[in-house]
Amino acid sequence: MPDKQKFVHLHVHSHFSLLDGMPKINDLIQKVKDLGMDSIALTDHGYMYGAIEFYKAAKKHGIKPIIGLETYVAPRTIKDKESGIDDKKFHLILLAKNNTGYKNLIKIATKASLEGFYYKPRVDKDLLKEHSDGLIALSACMSGEIPRAILTRNFERAESLIQSYKEIFKDDFYLEIGHHPGIKVSETVNQKLIEYSEKFNVPLVAAYDVHYLNEDDAKAQDTLMAVQTGAKLGEGDRITLAQDDFSLKSPEEVYDSFPYPKEALKNTVKIAEECDVEIELGTNKLPTYDVPSEETADTFLKKLCMQGAEKRYEIPLSQEVTERIDYELSVIEKTGFAAYFLIVQDFVKGKTKRHSCRPRQRLCGRIYRCLPFKYYEHRPLKVRPSF
Ligand SMILES: [Zn+2]
Ligand SMILES: [Zn+2]
Repeated sequence: MPDKQKFVHLHVHSHFSLLDGMPKINDLIQKVKDLGMDSIALTDHGYMYGAIEFYKAAKKHGIKPIIGLETYVAPRTIKDKESGIDDKKFHLILLAKNNTGYKNLIKIATKASLEGFYYKPRVDKDLLKEHSDGLIALSACMSGEIPRAILTRNFERAESLIQSYKEIFKDDFYLEIGHHPGIKVSETVNQKLIEYSEKFNVPLVAAYDVHYLNEDDAKAQDTLMAVQTGAKLGEGDRITLAQDDFSLKSPEEVYDSFPYPKEALKNTVKIAEECDVEIELGTNKLPTYDVPSEETADTFLKKLCMQGAEKRYEIPLSQEVTERIDYELSVIEKTGFAAYFLIVQDFVKGKTKRHSCRPRQRLCGRIYRCLPFKYYEHRPLKVRPSF
C-alpha cells in the first residue's frame, strides 16, 4: 500500500464493549489483515478485558496492536455521584504509547471501576493527570467532552477544555474528527475542531468509531444497542448508531471520502508508529512464599491440606476424599497458584488467632483447598461444588 494511503483505525470497539461493539477479536484482526493494514487500536468502553486477547491475536498475524480504552470522564470529580448531575459522562480515547502508558492505562481503568464507578467506570482530570505518562489522548466521538460543549454552543467551555486536556497530555493530545455525514451535527463539530486545531496548535486525527466490521452488520449492532438500553427497535428517540456507517473501512474508502484536512489521516499513522507496547506473557507474576527448604510451594500446600483433612475427616481418609484433594491440588499446580493459597492461609491464620473471623466462602470456594485454613464447617463432598 503506498504510504500516502496508509491509515490506522485508532477508535475501535470489539464485543468487549458489551452490547455495543460487534467484532470478535480474531475477526477484527483478520479483517485488518485482509484490508492490507498493519496496525489497529482497540478502545473498548470502560474496560480492558479484551486487551490481552487482542494483543496475542494481533501479534500472531503480524499486526501491530495499539492498546487503548474509551473511558468515561465524570462531569465533576469521581467522588461526586449525585443523581441528575453526575450520571452525565463524556467519552475520551486513551492509547498506550509504551509500557509505562500501558501500566497507567490499567491503573486508570482500575481506579475508574473501584473509585469512580457511577453507572459506568469514570475518570476525572486529576486521575488522568496522575497517570498521563506514556498515554496519547483523542477527544473522542460526539459524546466527548469537547464535542458536547460545541454542540451546546458553549464555545468558551470547549476552548478551556482543550487547554486543560493539552495541559494534561501535552503534545500527545489530539482533536478527533470522524466523517459521519449521516449525523447532521457532526459537520458543525468537525468544522469547529478544525478551527480550534489551528487556534490552539492541537493536531487533528481521523477516527471512525468502529462498532462492527461490515456495513451489513449495522442492523445486528443496532439490535444489541436496543437490548443494552432496554428500548424497542421501533422507538423513535432511543440511543442508536443507525444514522450512519460505523463499519471498519478500508484505507482506500477512507481516503476517497474523507472531506477534512488529510493531515488528520496521516496522523493516524504517526500515532501508530509512536505506539509500541510489549507485554510479557506466559510468566507467573505471583509473589513467592517461603517454604521449608525440603518443600516446594505445591508439596507444602499439599501437606497443609492433608493435615487439615485429617482433622476434618476420619482417618484413614477415604478414597473419595483423597481423590478430590488430589484433583484440586493438581489444578492449583497446573495454574501455579500454590503460593497464592499459602499467602492467603497465612494471613487468615494470623487474623483468626486474634478474631473470630473465618475466611469467606467466596475466597475458599467451599472445597478442599480451604482445608489449610482450618475451615472445617463446610462439607465439600456433600455440596458437590465445581472447582
Ligand atoms: Zn464514544
Ligand atoms: Zn467509541
